[in-house]
Amino acid sequence: MRLSDEELERYARHVVLPQVGGVGQRKLKAASVAVIGAGGIGSAVIPALAGAGVGQLTIVDDDVVELGNLHRQPLFRERDAGYSKADLALQFVQRLNHFVKATPVQAHIGAENAGELLSGHDLVIDGSDNFATRLAVSDACVALGIPLLSAAAVQFQGQVGLFRGQPCYRCFVGDAFDADDCDNCAELGVLGALTATVGSFAALLAINAIVGIGEDQAGKLHLFDGEKLEWRTIAIPADPGCRACGSA
Ligand SMILES: [Zn+2]
Repeated sequence: MRLSDEELERYARHVVLPQVGGVGQRKLKAASVAVIGAGGIGSAVIPALAGAGVGQLTIVDDDVVELGNLHRQPLFRERDAGYSKADLALQFVQRLNHFVKATPVQAHIGAENAGELLSGHDLVIDGSDNFATRLAVSDACVALGIPLLSAAAVQFQGQVGLFRGQPCYRCFVGDAFDADDCDNCAELGVLGALTATVGSFAALLAINAIVGIGEDQAGKLHLFDGEKLEWRTIAIPADPGCRACGSA
């Protein structure tokens, strides 16, 4: 996959990095990434990946913009209230970088359609707001063999983890939350700048994973405390009895 003169100029600050170079920039161009949720996490991830030149972005969100989103979702403006987040995110990407092919999917993603929606992507980034969606997305990624980058922010706590095969996201959270929307930030609250921090970290991890920069992060969970302003990293053990990735 070649880079045009215009692309070389556009991505010059990437290409000059020894860790990226022309080879890494072509990997970004060749990559197809699905982003689940154009909310707080998506508002950091989508501009970062579109700006970085990820070739294909699928943006899945069935929601419309509400006034209460604007403190943490800088993809949107006041006048966007009531309009589709997926379509608005598409317009954002088109205005930012015409080299990116973005596909909006204005649909709820769940166990019934996750396999079909995610098939063919190289990476899935999940910034959705509930466990049921996250588990359905994770199970589909395990079944399809697609790496999953899961990012979440609530109150002052953030977490970002890359899952590839074993352990999977279900190993981490277990089966208890399949039917619950219990981590919805409408009830718990979330600091707007926290979602931006966590979303930007997720975007960086995604780009590193696509290009192959640094150590492989699969199976590690990065936790951010927005009060202490500290990151820490833990290893996630695989659950041998996991019904998604377990040996059975
Ligand atoms: Zn598992």
